[in-house]
Amino acid sequence: MIHPHTQLREVSAQVGLGVYAAETIPAGTIVYVKDLLETSIRPDDPMLRYPAYRKSIDTYCYSEPDGTRVLSWDLAKYVNHSCRPNSLSTGYGFEIALTDIAPGEQITDDYGVFIGPEVLTCCCGHPDCRGVVRWEDFSRHVDAWDRRVQLALTNFRHVSQPLLGLLDSSTRRSLQRYLRTGKGYRSLAAMRPIIEPGRYATMTSPEKSLQSA
Ligand SMILES: [Zn+2]
Repeated sequence: MIHPHTQLREVSAQVGLGVYAAETIPAGTIVYVKDLLETSIRPDDPMLRYPAYRKSIDTYCYSEPDGTRVLSWDLAKYVNHSCRPNSLSTGYGFEIALTDIAPGEQITDDYGVFIGPEVLTCCCGHPDCRGVVRWEDFSRHVDAWDRRVQLALTNFRHVSQPLLGLLDSSTRRSLQRYLRTGKGYRSLAAMRPIIEPGRYATMTSPEKSLQSA
């Protein structure tokens, strides 16, 4: 589920739709949680073999470490990539605002966290743009991602968290322990998709173009 203070708007004719903040979303706010309404598509799901579904799956799903693709039921599936995003995945199963996101500002994410074997061309336009987004980005950037997430988490208890109730109790306890003691941080390293023969074979789409901010 995406943060309630969001709205869907057209970014441009080239990019298509994107998700924008309708009100200020402060740094440290949970922006997205994988809730129970999300659809999980296992790597061996027969649906992946049907071209009619394949394009939507490739375009709108993100990958979990075991190769499961997740399709969001709400606006979350329209969040675009940026090489300098204002929100990011965490090791806690939610995404967090890295900076204060102003009303009218597009919410962006780094697809490098959950991309499979496909290589995506990026045209996000940021000075730090990597040009392409690929699985190898993960190991290069995970330390920097963790630093940005940990910095954002310092605000966690000082901002409104409308999605907090959607965290499962185990994750919530783990997070609270880290926030209280500074110990036991869950790195993004655990989120890296595992690529092995067959796991993504039916889903790789080399011609896929990237939705970017
Ligand atoms: Zn870029």
